[in-house]
Amino acid sequence: MYRVNAVKLAVDEKADERPRGVNEVARTVIVRSAPLPRRTFRAFVELEGMYRNMVEQLVLYAVNNNVTKFTRLKAEKYREVRSLYPQLPSHYAYTACQDAAERAHSFLRLKRMGRARKPYPEVRSVSIWLDDHLWRAEGLTSISMTTHKGRLRVSIELSKHFLRYVNRGWRLASEARVKLDHKERKLTLYLTFKKEVSEYRPKSYITVDVNENAEAVLIDGVVYLFETNLSKVTLGYYYRRKRIQEKYDRAYGPGSRPARRVFRRLSNNEKALKREIRWKLATLIVRQAARRQAAIVLEKLGKEPASHMIERIKNLQLRHRIFQAAFKGVQRAIDEKAREYGVPVIYVDPRNTSRVCPIHGAEIIYGKDRHGVCSRGGETWHRDVVACYNLLLRALGGDGGSAPSRLRALIPVDGGPVPLGPTAAHEPTLIARGAWARWRSLGATSDHKLMRVSA
Ligand SMILES: [Zn+2]
Repeated sequence: MYRVNAVKLAVDEKADERPRGVNEVARTVIVRSAPLPRRTFRAFVELEGMYRNMVEQLVLYAVNNNVTKFTRLKAEKYREVRSLYPQLPSHYAYTACQDAAERAHSFLRLKRMGRARKPYPEVRSVSIWLDDHLWRAEGLTSISMTTHKGRLRVSIELSKHFLRYVNRGWRLASEARVKLDHKERKLTLYLTFKKEVSEYRPKSYITVDVNENAEAVLIDGVVYLFETNLSKVTLGYYYRRKRIQEKYDRAYGPGSRPARRVFRRLSNNEKALKREIRWKLATLIVRQAARRQAAIVLEKLGKEPASHMIERIKNLQLRHRIFQAAFKGVQRAIDEKAREYGVPVIYVDPRNTSRVCPIHGAEIIYGKDRHGVCSRGGETWHRDVVACYNLLLRALGGDGGSAPSRLRALIPVDGGPVPLGPTAAHEPTLIARGAWARWRSLGATSDHKLMRVSA
């Protein structure tokens, strides 16, 4: 076991005079309605048809005239689409302009990158955008919507997820979207909850070093290595795609429709798996930080590479960039989760964080298995442990980097008493994905588990 046993790194709280930010956090929650009576549902189907028609016309106009801004689209087309359906509340023409502007914007962007397959965007699935004039919540169990048939009331199925936001002080925002489920005669509502969260002043730090297959996290002087296998997932899917491509190309010729379908499914699976890994781990780390009123320290990464780079993975450099992209995803998840909990996040310069001994400042000579020896002290280090400690030192303002203003360690680390026991094995505690992935569902017991691992 590996922990700080000589000196506790402490922070002079008064030295940190950064203004503490207040963030607005928004989350979309999906709620379903009870099955609607035929007549009511028919009214919604009519509404959907009119809305779709407005959006289609607006998108066509926007793409032809290179309009990507809602304000311009509204100025040029609102009157016209408004007059198409005088029986419809006017705000539908307004939200249709917002909807269309966003569609045109993302289509034109794809087109610029040469990735648009069709000359015009298809308005395939429609969700009707609502604003505060078009709907309101009636208590917790129903909503009402203004339509061409007057105000229609719809009761919604309460879900645990929905109630959790209500109970935790989130407020329901006025913007919402609604989609029709024609098969079950239900509405699917996309509601937005918002909350203002202010950052606390950190009492300590949790540093996170992300690498290809694990995230190393320094908590209370212990480095945990949470296995993610992100590169294995990425490469695994890459080789599967390649195998399938060869098979389909032989059978149907290159770029066939069935091949594209299989590819789409595979890449959806890959995305979903990665997203789950990222969010679970982000939640775990952020909760630990919030409990300790700690700030999270992350490496400042460079610009994000395009995701289609993945197709040419052979090149080593590209491979590196792809994994950088994956790291960015991990960081984004932590950042977003942190905002929700008011956890401050600090980005520091990542240069050489795993090359220099955090005690002696001398270079570490690495052999295999991510292990190295300090060229001055001769002690053995695990690469991720080194990185975590150096990130901490940088956050404390120990060396250069882009450390926050005037944070400093009360007790000097380099030179003086060492934070790490010289005889300790500088080894992180590895926690397999199968183990930590279950923690969230166990909720309150996660901390207990973390204690047990470190014991
Ligand atoms: Zn050393």
